[in-house]
Amino acid sequence: MGKQKVIIVGASHGGHESAIELLDQYSDIEVTIYEAGDFVSFMSCGMELYLKDEVTAKDDVRNFAPADLEKRGGKIFKNNQVSAIHADQKTVTVRDTKTGQEKEAAYDKLILSSGVKPVMLPVEGNDLENIYLMRGYDWATKIKSALESDAVQDVVVVGAGYIGLEAVDVFAGAGKNVTLIDVIDRPLGTYLNPELVDILEPELAKNHVNLCMGAKIESFQGSDKVETVITDKGTIKADLVIVAAGVKPNTDWLQGTVDLEDGGFIKVDEYFRTNLPDVYAIGDAVLPLSIPAGKPMPIALATTARREAQYLVKHIFETKPHEAFAGVVGSSALSLFDYHFAASGLNAFSAAKAEIPFKTSFYEDRLRPAYIPDDSNPKVYVSLTFNPLTHQILGGAVLSKYDVTAQGNVLSLAIGHKMTLEDLAQADFFFQPGFDRQWSLLNLAAQHALDLARF
Ligand code: FAD
Repeated sequence: MGKQKVIIVGASHGGHESAIELLDQYSDIEVTIYEAGDFVSFMSCGMELYLKDEVTAKDDVRNFAPADLEKRGGKIFKNNQVSAIHADQKTVTVRDTKTGQEKEAAYDKLILSSGVKPVMLPVEGNDLENIYLMRGYDWATKIKSALESDAVQDVVVVGAGYIGLEAVDVFAGAGKNVTLIDVIDRPLGTYLNPELVDILEPELAKNHVNLCMGAKIESFQGSDKVETVITDKGTIKADLVIVAAGVKPNTDWLQGTVDLEDGGFIKVDEYFRTNLPDVYAIGDAVLPLSIPAGKPMPIALATTARREAQYLVKHIFETKPHEAFAGVVGSSALSLFDYHFAASGLNAFSAAKAEIPFKTSFYEDRLRPAYIPDDSNPKVYVSLTFNPLTHQILGGAVLSKYDVTAQGNVLSLAIGHKMTLEDLAQADFFFQPGFDRQWSLLNLAAQHALDLARF
């Protein structure tokens, strides 16, 4: 038998992890990535740091360069878009986006990690200049030059999720006049429970960010460039608009070949198999199993794509994998002006959406014993979301001006292992007054949720 040919569509987190795992775990294998874009594997997760000039160079903000993969024995073709799958012949059509030339490439296994693209608002004027999206190399380049332009003073960010808030942090930090617009009532309202938003909202105001929440955008106006954003709550001046208002899977090309969910996500089973034999899908283009929800949900994170890729490659040559993918918790972290937070699993918004019974609890404290002066004893906040009957921890978030984000990973572990409030309340964490109190922060937050004696 000749070498097994594996074709991977997309060179981002899912494609990269699949390729390196395949090359590492198997011999006699030919791994080829086709990437539609010109710049291989720009890491959007690092875009904020690039915009703030906190990286070595723009072209370093990537998962890998083509030569890195070639050194490991893999092949990558950029500007190569896979446009069709012919499952009966086990080939794909690949179009060179520069020359328009097409070729057929044969596979034994095909991994789709084609991801998502940000959606533009379907309103009048959305094709005006200076309306940008926030994903990938080309938009990063454009956003950076807008950030550095004196002609850009009034910036409107559409979308109060974590990507929109990254844009807000960058532009307000650079002294621009920033307005944040969303249809939801509160910034980060789908990411964090209300008590944590209560802390962050004034921080936005303190940094001169104008909030226009619960507002619907009706149109963008301007002659060539955008000049104003018209909402049902008023008109806002804009030299630049950044739209971070949701994503759409890159799956139009699969319609009629691969079964898709509502919303265009690729339908996969618990082994990431699509309806076509030997064709698999991972990453943002699929809905992963959420461990706390016990059902698939959108969890568009690099961490999810990588875990899926590692699982898939481990089992890809088994006739039927002996174990299903365990699922993910979904954890993320963000700095917003002076604050840092990490959130894991479900919150009140996502638990309600997943129709999971839940209760929440909010805990506020100082990090270290009371004899430590306030200026070196930061305030810390923990929000927990849990099942009111079983006390299983469904989600949690930590917030502070001090960097306690690593505690978010502790919460992730507890959520992933379906631990209860009682487990977390008793977990044997260290005590050292330089770092924490006699009971550690998450012990105390869980004890508070259980209504135990206040320590
Ligand atoms: P994507 O990253 O969406 O990439 C898909 C690739 O496939 C693209 O390169 C595309 O050009 C290519 N492609 C699509 N169709 C075809 C085709 N037909 N043929 C060939 N190639 C094709 N996640 C985190 O975990 N932590 C973070 O801090 C974080 N920060 C983020 C910040 C920003 C601003 C953004 C936008 C995202 C962030 N994410 C973060 C999310 C993370 O980037 C995504 O979850 C991750 O990139 C998903 O990887 P993927 O492989 O599914 O696909």
